[in-house]
Amino acid sequence: MMKNLIRMATLPLLAVAATACSSNESEQPWIVDRFDDIKVIRYEVPGFESLPLEQKELIYYLAEAAKCGRDILFDQNCAINLPVRRTLETIYTHFEGDRTTAEWKALEKYLKKVWFANGIHHHYSNDKFVPEFTEEYLLSVIETIDESAFGDLNSLRGEVCRAIFDPTLYPTKLNQKAGDDLLLTSSSNYYNGVTQAEAERFYARMAAADKGNPTPISYGLNSQLTKDQSGKIVERVWHLGGMYGEAIEQIVYWLEKAASVAVEPQKTTINHLIEYYKTGDLKLFDAYNIAWVKDIESNVDFVNGFIEDYGDALGRKASWEANVNFKDTEACHRTEVISENAQWFEDNAPINPAYRKPEVKGVSAKVITVAMLGGDCYPATPIGINLPNADWIRRDHGSKSVTIDNITYAYDKAAQGNGFNEEFVLRAEDRERIAKYGKLADDLHTDLHECLGHGSGRLAEGVSPMALGSYSSTLEETRADLFGLYYIGDPKMVELGLVPSFDVAKAGYADYIMNGMMTQLSRIELGKNVEESHMRNRKLIAEWCYEQGKEQKVIEWVVEDGKRYLVVNDFEQLRALFGKMLYEIQRIKSEGDFEAGKALVEQYAVQVDPALHQEVRDRYFALNIEPYGGFVNPEYQLVEADGKVVDVKICYPANYTDQMLNYAANYSFLPNIN
Ligand code: ZN
Repeated sequence: MMKNLIRMATLPLLAVAATACSSNESEQPWIVDRFDDIKVIRYEVPGFESLPLEQKELIYYLAEAAKCGRDILFDQNCAINLPVRRTLETIYTHFEGDRTTAEWKALEKYLKKVWFANGIHHHYSNDKFVPEFTEEYLLSVIETIDESAFGDLNSLRGEVCRAIFDPTLYPTKLNQKAGDDLLLTSSSNYYNGVTQAEAERFYARMAAADKGNPTPISYGLNSQLTKDQSGKIVERVWHLGGMYGEAIEQIVYWLEKAASVAVEPQKTTINHLIEYYKTGDLKLFDAYNIAWVKDIESNVDFVNGFIEDYGDALGRKASWEANVNFKDTEACHRTEVISENAQWFEDNAPINPAYRKPEVKGVSAKVITVAMLGGDCYPATPIGINLPNADWIRRDHGSKSVTIDNITYAYDKAAQGNGFNEEFVLRAEDRERIAKYGKLADDLHTDLHECLGHGSGRLAEGVSPMALGSYSSTLEETRADLFGLYYIGDPKMVELGLVPSFDVAKAGYADYIMNGMMTQLSRIELGKNVEESHMRNRKLIAEWCYEQGKEQKVIEWVVEDGKRYLVVNDFEQLRALFGKMLYEIQRIKSEGDFEAGKALVEQYAVQVDPALHQEVRDRYFALNIEPYGGFVNPEYQLVEADGKVVDVKICYPANYTDQMLNYAANYSFLPNIN
């Protein structure tokens, strides 16, 4: 049973799939839908069931709040998005004709793309979708459905059709081409009938009036800029009673519920957010952010609001987003153990003792488990969060930086069936190890790279940290990567309980070498060399170790059926080579040996063999792997007894369309036009 008290009558009642958590199907596939260039993946929320009841209840209320702002994002992305989505949803749920024709399939695909992108523009490229069905077909389908099903949408029909079919209308959500009027040529709804020059003047005046204030608010963050009847430029602020007020009312309702079960200091944090939503006062948003960033103790955490400004060409207006999460104790334990043993790793690093740091501190990174994604974090989501955005709050109060483990886990699981490893990994034993330990090897490698690798080692007296010039970032990433590669295969990792055996390193090594020498080339255009410093560093390490171990065939090229494969024959020997290389890279850095660094990078990291490049790209693109991914959310259900909440159940829906129709029916609160 979902608790949704108020519903706007803007949508006809849809035939919605049941959303109650009836069973907990665990053997579902990870990819629940694929269309166009998109795959939709489900993610699991490990650890939810064993949370204390109060935290489960808090997550439930915050998760409800996270779903209530979805319409806001649709409207922010383009003013016609809600009428388009609702027209198509009405058709989708009412059409009783032939659903097997190519045109119907094209219409269904278009609707899924609109759902996924939160509007009619691609979520990544920002270009408007091109429908693969005709306007005549759309109108003929609408003809078969009772007019009353469309309600207010009937009067918007012409607008909706033009938005879908006229390529000159709303061509791009976000235009960033210098020289154009970026506001008039962008289809997002952050500015309405206001030119770029007018908007810039408006905010320049606002900033000038506040000049010298060391703690300025984020001017314009939570409003649409438009003109009133007299032509004067005004802000329509997004708050309770203002623009988007109908959705914000719902968000506030659930946040109040959340505050009622939260404990201090989180209760106060949530109350700051509620006050901000009620008033739209950006000073209160700052107060909320300060309280939020200081709270590092609460196990459950969340983001809910107008946060990121990537969607505004002027970088001022924030899209609505939400995320509910809790600490991943096991993964946090991993980074804590590594940090606690930082000195041991430093003292045993395979480098010249003179270049070891006498005293080293590890940085422990927070890892979280996401329980709900909303707004601009759904269905496509970042895998890390670093907030708040206001510079002065970061300066004076710090920021929170976290990585989201269950999302990367789901990406990894979804990738396992895509044929990639079958295509590029020759030996079954390697494929099995990668399937079993690839993610752990990757996570540990990242932890070691970030928590210890970059901070390790020291410069010789008088050597400038700038000595390696333009090669410094590639060599620095090489050093941190080697530190991680060397140590994931160290017996110490087993001793610390971080890995069960050397097999984890074997999985990581096979994957690293294949990627560095081969598969990462799929991301580079033909005819180009390797430029990006992380890609260069991986190629440098893999090629150098190949060369150094060539005689003993530590790494070997094998050709089968005309296809090239890389095989690691001796993992222990490879680990020794990582150590040997780390010794040399650390020497280069510590001594500022520019010429040696340059020679290594130029010899191993840059040039691409054109025939290999072509082969890798051909084989990769033949796999038809969708480049973009997003997620279905889990669903939660309150379990009550005698009027009291006694548990919260979680389940994992396996159908993207059902979730979209559920959200349309139960979490759609805004009018068609805002
Ligand atoms: Zn790095």
